Amino acid sequence: MSKTAFFDQAPSFSSSRLMKTYQPLPIRFVKGLGTRLWDQEEQEYLDAVAGVAVTNVGHSHPSVLEAITQQAGALLHVSNHYHNDWAEQLAYRLTKLTGMQQVFFGNSGAEANETALKLARLHAKRLGVDHPLIVVMERAFHGRTLGALSASDGLSIQAGFSPLLEGFVRIPFGDTIALETITSRYGERIVALLTEPIQGESGIHLPPPGYLKTLRRHCTSHGWLLMLDEIQTGLGRTGDWFAFQRESIVPDVLTLAKSLANGIPIGACLAIGEAAMLFSPGQHGSTFGGNPLACRVGCTVLDILERDALPAHANHQGQLLLTRLQEALREASHVRSIRGCGLMIGIELAQPCKHLMLEALEQHHLLINVTRDTTIRLLPPLVLDNNDLNILVDALRDLIV
Ligand SMILES: *Cc1c(COP(=O)(O)O)cnc(C)c1O
Repeated sequence: MSKTAFFDQAPSFSSSRLMKTYQPLPIRFVKGLGTRLWDQEEQEYLDAVAGVAVTNVGHSHPSVLEAITQQAGALLHVSNHYHNDWAEQLAYRLTKLTGMQQVFFGNSGAEANETALKLARLHAKRLGVDHPLIVVMERAFHGRTLGALSASDGLSIQAGFSPLLEGFVRIPFGDTIALETITSRYGERIVALLTEPIQGESGIHLPPPGYLKTLRRHCTSHGWLLMLDEIQTGLGRTGDWFAFQRESIVPDVLTLAKSLANGIPIGACLAIGEAAMLFSPGQHGSTFGGNPLACRVGCTVLDILERDALPAHANHQGQLLLTRLQEALREASHVRSIRGCGLMIGIELAQPCKHLMLEALEQHHLLINVTRDTTIRLLPPLVLDNNDLNILVDALRDLIV
């Protein structure tokens, strides 16, 4: 399909009535199945983004479809003023999988992180700390609401929104010396540490081995809450159910969203120990949070992940994909690094490469993501098979080398 045909179909940047928060590529998808998408001309595409780590069990999964239709025909919403069995069930299953004790449901990742930030404030109150601080990371991404934005890092997303929320101190991700320095500098004002176990939005950055263990030990010995944002890494993406399990630790607070209901909006903030008991009725809430539809679909997603052993599949396919990419791109001198964990892979180039998103679409019928200008980010559905993998590697070789 030619470039002009794309532009003829889609509204232009200036004629669209949507606020200009995005610059969508000139294509409109109308259908999906598994790892594939189709546009209005019935052209087929391979999806290696999964709606940014959302549709992890693939598009139009029959069990997800069944859960949605059955629940839509039974009950969509009654409010949190009444008991809700699907919310109870999903909370129970998530606590079993994570080792956490209590769950709060919202509708997005940002909301899950806002919940975590409010828990940190209540924790401070209990400790009697008046002007509490939360340690966050350079290059962190936690969402776009003002609290989550303030915890995030980067001029491009924060510029224009000052004053941001106060109460954050920032250190380089993976740097344990900086952790010691900030601890002695701020002492008992620090009450919590919030981080992604692997940084996603800023280009797939893995910490040195043992880092999460160090954070756990440090938080425990100083009475800080260790709050992990697994919104992107959680639920099988990294080849384990949760990235924190790779280092055999348990956080105090854990946030999930993205893939939890495979595209039906949901976010969850989980906690254990003191953090699990901090909220009392009236202190936090959400109109839609924990609604029967999202929670039932969440239960179905967990069924699929378990039944098809998708975390282990993601681990296997991820290792294979990483090895194959390293071979295929060996001769490309402008490839700075290829790194990842499970099916969360970044290919960092020496120059900006945003244009590759459109080239991949037009030349290879492939969806890829480029983040922070220079890193190609791959987040395919966890059901990626060997045929998909071959197509992906061939296309990337052609695009990059
Ligand atoms: C996507 C993401 C968020 C924000 O989630 P939203 O649902 O867009 O609010 C927060 N943290 C991480 C690590 C993410 O990847």
